Amino acid sequence: MTFETLGLHPAILKALTEAGYSTPTPVQQQAVPAVLDNQDLLVSSKTGSGKTAAFMLPALQRFATLPDTEKNTKTQNQERQAARARGGAFRFKAATPKMLILTPTRELALQITSATAQYAKYLSHIRTVAILGGMPYPKQMQLLAKNPDILVATPGRLIDHLHSGKIDLSALQTLVLDEADRMLDMGFIDDIETIVKATPDTRQTLLFSATLDGVVGKMAERITRSPQIIRIASVTSKHENIMQTLHFVDDLAHKNRILDHLLRDVALNQALVFTATKRDADSVADWLNIAGFSAAALHGDMHQGARNRTLENLRRGRVKILVATDVAARGIDIPSITHVFNYDLPKFPEDYVHRIGRTGRAGKNGMAVSLVNHAENKNVKRIERFIKQVIPINIIEGFEPKNAIEEIQKKRKFHKPGSGKKRHQSPSSQRHFMTNQGPAERRSNPSRHKRSDTRSQSQSSHRRAQAA
Ligand code: AMP
Repeated sequence: MTFETLGLHPAILKALTEAGYSTPTPVQQQAVPAVLDNQDLLVSSKTGSGKTAAFMLPALQRFATLPDTEKNTKTQNQERQAARARGGAFRFKAATPKMLILTPTRELALQITSATAQYAKYLSHIRTVAILGGMPYPKQMQLLAKNPDILVATPGRLIDHLHSGKIDLSALQTLVLDEADRMLDMGFIDDIETIVKATPDTRQTLLFSATLDGVVGKMAERITRSPQIIRIASVTSKHENIMQTLHFVDDLAHKNRILDHLLRDVALNQALVFTATKRDADSVADWLNIAGFSAAALHGDMHQGARNRTLENLRRGRVKILVATDVAARGIDIPSITHVFNYDLPKFPEDYVHRIGRTGRAGKNGMAVSLVNHAENKNVKRIERFIKQVIPINIIEGFEPKNAIEEIQKKRKFHKPGSGKKRHQSPSSQRHFMTNQGPAERRSNPSRHKRSDTRSQSQSSHRRAQAA
């Protein structure tokens, strides 16, 4: 299937060719025709699957073919000038978007806005703006004065503007809930219900979520009409293109030494380092800079402007290492990120999946490394249960943890206590695959990557079998 066979407008096709997209991803192949057919959708697919284009391309197609009379042609400035010319008074009119995309985070909203600008590059008269928490009020008024056709927003800030009458959703045609599970996790359920009530019943609703079960499923039942369900089990949803490893560390100094060492890997192009706290993000970024890396911090205490500048610097390669809290776990889409480090493990196992998904973007391979204190073994197991995979342990010569590998494996209960000695060959083989299987090599030889993964998996199954 090609984008042409999806029947997209030539101006959209031109933009896609320029973006380097040759074939629609599985979610796009299924979602684009369904959206064009005016169906409601429930889609379970991860970030990285191409879901933004899956809902945006058909929406843009619709805008491209909309009669002029139905377009949001006039900005508030033009309305003001027209009122002046008529000699009449001008009143700020509420913005009346036709499409609304709700996202859990500001970063994801900005990501969607810039992807939309890319896809709509050759379509005129389509205005897209993002209204986000943390953005100065006058700036938001300026954006709303454009009377955008497409509004991308975080729920809390949108509610403020709904209440103050600056946004009117009565003409809305398409509502997209992106990462609905995450929005519910963040406690936005009431806000979402309020927003949905402000939209017409005739709207089309497209819900994207990592899972469609539980509360997400219940909410979906309430807000969609006979939805088509699309479940995408993509390669990246299992993160088969990301090599995951974990290093046990004895203490902070050991952790910092290992991180410093791994960041000097020649195969590393750009990296994201996740910390548990904002303060740690700042202090790790500081010491990395002192150690000679080009690093920057990103966390929720920073003003939106500073956050945007930092991300832009990362995108342009001016920053090599971004040290961030979970604010960056979703939405950052920078294909040149080769490595993700969990300096601290995430609180929730699902955040582990989102964090490591910041690498291995757009079909590339990636490396995800967790630096784990021996006491955090329980958290490792929770993550492994969630991802249904065992994360192979790695040991680097000269950086070995004080606990011998047998001790670590005993703790992880992958084999009977006492039977570890024999398999102590595994550290050296793991060491071998770590030093000889860097992402650069894997990129040039994907089949080898696969083999190494398979081997580490089979080692794990072997350990499990022995434990049984
Ligand atoms: P998303 O899941 O929307 O965050 O997209 C993940 C990444 O895939 C982004 O870098 C997109 O630019 C890229 N992408 C989306 N669709 C395609 C496609 N059909 N071909 C190649 N890359 C794509």
